[in-house]
Amino acid sequence: MKNWSLLTLIAVAVASLSFSTAPAKTPAKKKRSVAAASRTVVFPVAGKSRILDKWGASRGGGVRRHKGIDIHARKGTPVVALADGRIVERAHTPIGGKTLWLKSATHPWTAYYAHLDKQYVTEGQYVRKGQVIGTVGNTGNARTTPPHLHFGVARGKSWVNPLPFVKNAPKVAAKTSTKKKATAKRSTRGRKARR
Ligand SMILES: [Zn+2]
Repeated sequence: MKNWSLLTLIAVAVASLSFSTAPAKTPAKKKRSVAAASRTVVFPVAGKSRILDKWGASRGGGVRRHKGIDIHARKGTPVVALADGRIVERAHTPIGGKTLWLKSATHPWTAYYAHLDKQYVTEGQYVRKGQVIGTVGNTGNARTTPPHLHFGVARGKSWVNPLPFVKNAPKVAAKTSTKKKATAKRSTRGRKARR
C-alpha cells in the first residue's frame, strides 16, 4: 500500500512536470520544422552541381511559375534518394521525361525527380537515404537545355519550395561505378601477380 501511494505521487509529479514544460505553439515552429528536415536529408545530386533556376522562375513566357528547382550537373551525375522512402511512381512523360516520385518515410512529403537520363529503381521499391536512384539528364521538355535535375517537393496536393529542404543538406560523395572499381581491383591483382 505504501509503495502504491508513492508510485501515484511520482506519476502525478512527472505528469505535471511534462505538462508545464510542454512547448508553446509559436509561429517559428514551421521554420524550425523546415530547418530540422534539412538536417535529416541529403542533397539529391551527388557530385558537382549548381542550383540555377529557383522556385517561382517564369515559365512559358510568364504563363506558369517554376514549381521546383533546377540542379545543373553533367549528364550521368548520380541522383540520390534524399531520404528513406518508397518509389511510388516511375514514368516517362513528354514534359518531365524520365521521372521518379519518392514518398518519404520520414517526412510528410513526396519528392519529384525529372529529366533523368537513367532510372535505376522500379515502382514500389524501397530506397535508403543516399541510394543512387538515377542519373542527371535532359529528357522530356529539357532535351534542348543543358542536363539538369528538376527537383520538386509536394506536400499533399500542393508544391512547396524545395530549396529550404536541400540548400544546406550534406552531399553524398559520388561513387565510382562498379565497372571502374572492378578494373581497379584487377589491376591491383595484376601488379601483385607480376611481383
Ligand atoms: Zn525545372
